[in-house]
Amino acid sequence: MTTCWPRIGIILLSCLLAAGLTANDRLDHVLPVRGLCIAAPRPTQIDAFLKFIAGELAPRSVNTLVLRVDYGFQYTSHPELADPQGLSPNDVAQLLAACRRHGIELIPQINLLGHQSWGKYTHRLLTAHPEFDETPWVKMPDRHTWPNEDGLYCKSYCPRHPQVHDVVFAVVDELCDAFDAKAMHAGLDEVFYIGMDKCPRCGGQDKSQLFADEVTLIRNHLHEKGRRMWMWGDRLLDGKVTGLGEWEASRNDTHRAIDLIPKDVVICDWHYERPDPTAVYFAMKGFDVVTCPWKNADSARQQLADMVHWRSISSPAMRPRFQGVMQTVWSEADGFRRELQETPASDDTSARPSQGHCFRSMFLEIGKLEPE
Ligand SMILES: [Zn+2]
Repeated sequence: MTTCWPRIGIILLSCLLAAGLTANDRLDHVLPVRGLCIAAPRPTQIDAFLKFIAGELAPRSVNTLVLRVDYGFQYTSHPELADPQGLSPNDVAQLLAACRRHGIELIPQINLLGHQSWGKYTHRLLTAHPEFDETPWVKMPDRHTWPNEDGLYCKSYCPRHPQVHDVVFAVVDELCDAFDAKAMHAGLDEVFYIGMDKCPRCGGQDKSQLFADEVTLIRNHLHEKGRRMWMWGDRLLDGKVTGLGEWEASRNDTHRAIDLIPKDVVICDWHYERPDPTAVYFAMKGFDVVTCPWKNADSARQQLADMVHWRSISSPAMRPRFQGVMQTVWSEADGFRRELQETPASDDTSARPSQGHCFRSMFLEIGKLEPE
């Protein structure tokens, strides 16, 4: 019986070649998502970023580009949230055209619920609409340190505020329209402030239910417009039981939301220090899942190998849920481009951990995958 498989493989490959499929089309069967998540470029960096897409992403078969835009766009639906120096619709059109030319799906990201501040800075939503603040009694520090008395990592908006979704969904729609997006990444990672006792709307409520309700509301809004929701997975993992802690998993009782949200949300399962195999957990719960590394190239190569392995051994029901990998970059777009140029060869195992080395190494391994 087993002796038939090589012949069947050759026949299948011949059929795919005969059908005129490209190498990337065939690679899609092995690893459907080959992604990069990075801050959106500034308008002055567009030309360089277009070259980056053509020169660094396309040759590596990257097919998914999540751009973290947040409020770096010239919004007109809510001018109070617009960045006059942010991306214009014309800038986005150029990015979109370049991505389409190279078969890359462009997905915009706006952080919803959490990450409404960073360090000592409050982002535009809560500076323009302080009434949406889940913790208005927590004053922003002159200098942010962690840990601190307030447990302030980032501010959140109150998901039960009666006006907050009118505002955030207006900018979500405007941005998705500009990107002609079929999917949007809603962030939702590291939400530490949720269901706070002093919030008159959320105090005393079940945090998993609050989180699930917000995910469901966002998903339903996007779904009505034919768009799919992507999000980070950390709030859906039990940080205590797994030992994953309070960052890449939840220690604030939101993890039960995994059983309360729609199954068509794409989970970006980030693990930066170790290749924790939680993608299996998400897949067994019925979600499509993408594993996300950062700086650790050894871990990223293992995460990639795991993803390919799980696709090869799983049941037909489970297999398509293991969608692929996405490198995350947490520096400015321009900085990463420079870092990449200065990064030593991808197979240099003595290189210090860096985003550039991790990206090069993981995509070198992707290039070695045998298309089906
Ligand atoms: Zn609240």
